[in-house]
Amino acid sequence: VTSVLTFTRTKKGRYEWIQLVGHPGTFKEGFHDGYVLKELCKHERYCCEVLQTDILKSFVPKYNGTVTDDEGKSYIEMEDLLASFHEPCIMDCKIGVRTYLEEDLAKSESDPVPRADLYEKMIAIDPTAPTEKENEEKKILKPRYMIWRETLSSSQELGFRIEGIKKSRGLMSKDFQRIKDRNDVRQQLTDFIANSLSRATRYQKRLIDLRSTCLRSKFFQTHELIGSSLLFVHDNTRASLWMIDFGKTRKLPNDFQITHSKPWIRGTHEDGYLIGLDNLIMILQDIIDE
Ligand code: ATP
Ligand code: MG
Ligand code: MG
Repeated sequence: VTSVLTFTRTKKGRYEWIQLVGHPGTFKEGFHDGYVLKELCKHERYCCEVLQTDILKSFVPKYNGTVTDDEGKSYIEMEDLLASFHEPCIMDCKIGVRTYLEEDLAKSESDPVPRADLYEKMIAIDPTAPTEKENEEKKILKPRYMIWRETLSSSQELGFRIEGIKKSRGLMSKDFQRIKDRNDVRQQLTDFIANSLSRATRYQKRLIDLRSTCLRSKFFQTHELIGSSLLFVHDNTRASLWMIDFGKTRKLPNDFQITHSKPWIRGTHEDGYLIGLDNLIMILQDIIDE
């Protein structure tokens, strides 16, 4: 479920906060100026806490603890990454070769009843996708559907996909779920940076810094990052990016190691995070060399 939500900040009335993707009602204005509240998820809170003392700290929003509102609902309070920008352009890129946890797949398998609704969803998107047997039954198993859906976007091949883009004062677009081809992704990135070479260079430098920091990070070495995004933000004078959304990031079992750069095979827990970073870096290089 994705939705469009914007709210105007009232405290100082300085600017509009923009939520590109995600579930509606997840975010609220922060208790402190320059902060936003996101509905509490204990996995995400744990990551935010650990990341505050990791070398990745400068690549994640500052974390200000948990708060509870009048209705008793709990939130994490984190730095509003848009606060220091003037009429920013924003892009959310989901990083990794898959966006579901292995445990979600296992859960979906515990319900082995083939589903007609998933078959309908599949043929609505691609009538040639079902196998002969699936066409006969007009039903599809949930895990098969989950894996297939990942092949629609660039996630599986490029290790990232564009989830949403908001250009300054422009419209918000979220019709990226089926952009898969490298050239199409590159075109979207070129549009997003409005052909600015210096912006491409700044984003690329930040990505290279992030990559080398990841390789030295204790957190990165010991976690599987699923469904996490990079939030790209620029205005006329600056361009930067941060890691966000740790709701599906999990600590790896003890002594379990992943490379973050190999394709996922079930059971390996590989997330393909570095595949995504490397492709973003290379596509930006193509844009710079153009
Ligand atoms: P989903 O799991 O469906 O991707 P979610 O509910 O977990 O969504 P996020 O992905 O964390 O939510 O955030 C959704 C959007 O909210 C982001 O694309 C971004 O536009 C905005 N956002 C999130 N965190 C911040 C932040 N710290 N500062 C500014 N904007 C943010
Ligand atoms: Mg997200
Ligand atoms: Mg999330």
